[in-house]
Amino acid sequence: MSGNAAPPVHLVNGVRRFREQVYPGMTDLFSTLREGQAPQVLFITCSDSRVDPSLITQTSPGELFIIRNAGNLIPPAGVNDTGEVATLEYAVVALGVQHIVVCGHSGCGAMSGLLNPSSLAQLPKVRRWLRHAETTRQLVSLDNTPAGDAERLQLAVHCNVRAQLDQLRSHHFVAERERAGALQLHGWVYDIGAGEVTAYNPETRAFEPLMRRQMAS
Ligand SMILES: [Zn+2]
Repeated sequence: MSGNAAPPVHLVNGVRRFREQVYPGMTDLFSTLREGQAPQVLFITCSDSRVDPSLITQTSPGELFIIRNAGNLIPPAGVNDTGEVATLEYAVVALGVQHIVVCGHSGCGAMSGLLNPSSLAQLPKVRRWLRHAETTRQLVSLDNTPAGDAERLQLAVHCNVRAQLDQLRSHHFVAERERAGALQLHGWVYDIGAGEVTAYNPETRAFEPLMRRQMAS
């Protein structure tokens, strides 16, 4: 790798289009954002290139504070320093976000690796990172429903969102604010092929279409 390696041409062209065609129409927004940020939502999702938080929520710069990693995992309290927990603390304590969305997605490679550890033989760091999804693996193995690989992967994606909500709550600064009514936690799954989002309903313990939930509440 050389220090003067050329960046991908399509990225350079994209930046040029942003500067010349997009930015001029958003100067009011960017002049406000120059002063600082006040996002109401922390959005936690996978690094998967097919998941675009701002696209699927139709939000603008400044609206979503985002944590992304393989498998949308949040290490539980008691785990030594991680970037995830530092960023979570900043979002909740310093920025005072009012909502946290954990958004898994269909066809998640991290969840696939969790179910098939032998596929991670050449990926020791991924394998180690996935220990933060151990609860997910246990939830999937507890489910006695016979299922094929695709169904088990979907089950893992859903179980993982629930497990990560619990791991979020293991952090006292999250749990205290949720108890006080200052913070709401939401579990979503984004279906890439269908362009649909389902949300976890703790009362039915099921994922339901987000639109229906919104209209019902
Ligand atoms: Zn993923």
